Amino acid sequence: MRKISFLLLAISAMFVMSCANDPVVSLNQESSALSQDIDMSDFYLVTEEEAVSAKTQMGHSRQCHTMHVLNRQLNENPELRDKMYNVEQHTRALMATYAAKPGKGNGGGGNNGGSDGGTGGGDTGYQGTVNIPVHVHVVYSNSNENISDSQINSQISVLNNDFNDTNYGDIPSEFQGLAADIDITFTLAQVDRHANSRTSWGTTDAVKSAYPPVADHLTIWVCNIGGGILGYAQFPGGSASTDGVVISPQYFGTTGYVAAPFDKGRTATHEVGHWLNLRHIWGDGRCKQDDFVSDTPSSDGPNYGCPSYPTVNCRSNDMTMNYMDYTDDACMNMFSQGQKDRMRALFAAGGVRENLVQ
Ligand SMILES: [Zn+2]
Repeated sequence: MRKISFLLLAISAMFVMSCANDPVVSLNQESSALSQDIDMSDFYLVTEEEAVSAKTQMGHSRQCHTMHVLNRQLNENPELRDKMYNVEQHTRALMATYAAKPGKGNGGGGNNGGSDGGTGGGDTGYQGTVNIPVHVHVVYSNSNENISDSQINSQISVLNNDFNDTNYGDIPSEFQGLAADIDITFTLAQVDRHANSRTSWGTTDAVKSAYPPVADHLTIWVCNIGGGILGYAQFPGGSASTDGVVISPQYFGTTGYVAAPFDKGRTATHEVGHWLNLRHIWGDGRCKQDDFVSDTPSSDGPNYGCPSYPTVNCRSNDMTMNYMDYTDDACMNMFSQGQKDRMRALFAAGGVRENLVQ
């Protein structure tokens, strides 16, 4: 959203982390005295949760509790802020190197639609397809919640389609040049099924304590969260013991025990977006709050249902069809180039999810 101005003076193969509370990080390159400053002044983790939750009370609307869970985790563990700050520093440093090398391409990029940074790609990012093994814990208290293998496979298919999308014909022309093939694939590694008398699990990570995540995998817990909540994710930088995505069974996959209008598998696409460090597209605040992606328009809140184009907010058209908005499953169909670069930064050298590509 909001443009971040960088001093594009350097290309770095490695960077030196400064103290976690230092607002500026220096980039260094062995063979060069060039350096650049990364502006972290707009980094924040506090959200306007109340404004969003008030709107979600109206009708059957998407409810993602990722930011709610983040706020709880920050209260429980103040060190989390520094860890997420460091992840953000690494991401922004890499974005700066991308911006300094326009047109280099980044494993399927090349749809640079005129954004002001973070597109194109550089030599320091991870190149090629990222394949992520997926471990699914199905936790059920009744036969409906013990979803079928075909329902699980349908969700894996949606993830693979959405993260490898190259058909942008149904996107408004204003945004077509920004749409991105993320080039991340998902392979179902294992399904564990757990009968449990508990009928709702909430968002306190109790299900993760009962059935721990699997290292070097994307762990997805499919269990009834309750409260009309579709799912929640943990951002990069959080504890390994709670790393992964939780989704209620009726919003998982496209067949079997699924409930419209969230029956196209886009809850998982959205939550995996968070797991790969994407914020909500409105930045979890008003016009001036940022999602830290330069090519997504500013917005003052989520969109619901299936909005007609254009939807104007903050003097620009909202990208309501972005997976990180709150629109219905059938009405979201794109990630942006900037979101791609932000996600893929996690797999670059020093990235917090680098272990998945080693
Ligand atoms: Zn969300």
